[in-house]
Amino acid sequence: MALIVQKFGGTSVASVERIQKVAQRVYQTAQQGHDVVVVVSAMGQTTDELISLAKSITSEPNRREMDMLLATGEQVSIALLSMALQELGQPALSLTGAQVGILTETFHSRARILEIKPDRVQRHLQQGEVVVVAGFQGITSSDDLEITTLGRGGSDTSAVALAAALQADYCEIYTDVAGILSTDPRIVPEAVLMPEITCDEMLELASLGAKVLHPRAVEIARNYGVTLVVRSSWSDEPGTKVLSPLLEPRSLADLEIGKAVDSVQLDTSQGQVALLRVPDSPGIAAGLFGEIANQAVDVDLIIQSIHEGNTNDIAFTVQRDVINTAEAVASAIAPSLRSSSSANEAEVITNPEIATIAITGAGMIGRPGIAAKMFTTLAEAGVNIRMISTSEVKVGCVIDKQHGDRAIEALCDAFSITTSPVTPHTQKNDHPPVRGVALDRNQAQVAMLQVPDYPGRAAQIFGKLAENNISVDMIIQSQRSRLINEIPSRDIAFTVSNTEVELTEQLLKELLPDIGAQEIVVNQEIAKVSVVGAGMVGNPGVAAQMFSALAQQQINIQMITTSEIKISCVVAQSQGETALRVIHNVFNLPEIAKQP
Ligand code: ADP
Ligand code: ASP
Ligand code: MG
Repeated sequence: MALIVQKFGGTSVASVERIQKVAQRVYQTAQQGHDVVVVVSAMGQTTDELISLAKSITSEPNRREMDMLLATGEQVSIALLSMALQELGQPALSLTGAQVGILTETFHSRARILEIKPDRVQRHLQQGEVVVVAGFQGITSSDDLEITTLGRGGSDTSAVALAAALQADYCEIYTDVAGILSTDPRIVPEAVLMPEITCDEMLELASLGAKVLHPRAVEIARNYGVTLVVRSSWSDEPGTKVLSPLLEPRSLADLEIGKAVDSVQLDTSQGQVALLRVPDSPGIAAGLFGEIANQAVDVDLIIQSIHEGNTNDIAFTVQRDVINTAEAVASAIAPSLRSSSSANEAEVITNPEIATIAITGAGMIGRPGIAAKMFTTLAEAGVNIRMISTSEVKVGCVIDKQHGDRAIEALCDAFSITTSPVTPHTQKNDHPPVRGVALDRNQAQVAMLQVPDYPGRAAQIFGKLAENNISVDMIIQSQRSRLINEIPSRDIAFTVSNTEVELTEQLLKELLPDIGAQEIVVNQEIAKVSVVGAGMVGNPGVAAQMFSALAQQQINIQMITTSEIKISCVVAQSQGETALRVIHNVFNLPEIAKQP
């Protein structure tokens, strides 16, 4: 006999008939002798409808009142499902987030779970009842007992958090697709089911636009070792298993706000190559990285920055012992990239004396303060940041090699990390190089031009955004520095969610005089397309394949960032879907998915 948490999404409970279907499935599980806790979303499009009701009254609804409103959606479905179960003769009762004791922080519309009190649920389970819990909602632990919601898609997080708190044997997420597919089947019908995926890969995919799972749900599963399965509500197929790593057991206190950073890693084995002033046209990155892959050189970080006078900078890091090969390839290509004006001739610079320093941890998701703290810590230690590359679970910075020891000491101290492994670099593993592909159309690109180059700028900019709870991704600073009023200056670009772009622009404008930068440029017409795979480590050529697939369709890449297991490109929004399709195609994902 097992304890199972089953979560059903909005489409799965969209009508009375579907609720009855769900009740049947839950009933059968209970009949097999299992204890069952069910988590449900609001019926169908209810949450969207409630949001538009509010918007018809005010363009900026109060966040507290929004939570009050949206939490009602789930309350409807728990009561109906409970009645449907009782109709089948199955003892059941419904509980709101508050009744279960899902305690959250006091942050309306995006609250994090602090603790779940398991007693009441356990009591009902012991009495042979199925407990039906409202997803997406909680209650503050303060005396005011305020109703909070966890953010759109948050019922997944309620379910996995309950599974962790109750030490359930497993958590099943039932939805309207067969499981986790190689990409969104609504855009690419050829998308195929993956039998399994690692938590790290799913974290990246979920935060890069694959909405099949809420990223925070994956984070909890990873941290607490919850066995998580995503399956179809319409069939008995096994679906996709999300593999969590074996971590040290953690305390359930401060469930979602526990330790944000797991480790600090310093790698001094790499060197940096940059190709400056290359034309901003399709095919440049493909040509460069295609040739580098032909030489079997594995590239780690890749960063392509925003345009300046219609040219780009591309910078990347490789193992120091192959830096000469990489430089030779870049130098051979540079002359062919000459643009019309000779002043803009492409140029190659190399720097073998760099180090990469990174903080990693799933608890950074949606917590912009963590990256900001890293930048502040480095600034205070007098360490200048040459390149930044962020992902949901990792922030990596390229710094001068001579500052490596100082940087790691300061960061370990700041994040209370006692052991700091030197990264075992480019270890091959058995995972496929590319597991899935994702498209995010809800991002905007923001650039701050001509930012004076001194330690602390990144801390200042991203600290200010973090104070306002704005998460940024794909932070890039240009490689070339220009003298503005005799001060070396660089451009910094990044992406933010569309919903936060206005506030971001306003905050940055306030910062401009302080920082001494010249201008803010915003582009909302972008899409981010990403490939994710744990096996791309030590597998040269994945980036080249992605870039050349885009080039063949004449799709221009505006920004590139990579982390160990993902490559993201910003392209024009109008080309986002085509980009997703051609990339899905080039990696032949159906064949990869067949492999066990
Ligand atoms: P639920 O209401 O059950 O929570 P969601 O709409 O939140 O369902 O998530 C399921 C949807 O996620 C699917 O219908 C699909 O269109 C979309 N999706 C995006 N990327 C993926 C992917 N890689 N695998 C499966 N579904 C995906
Ligand atoms: N009903 C909420 C939403 O639509 C939560 C969820 O479905 O996960 O975002
Ligand atoms: Mg969902």
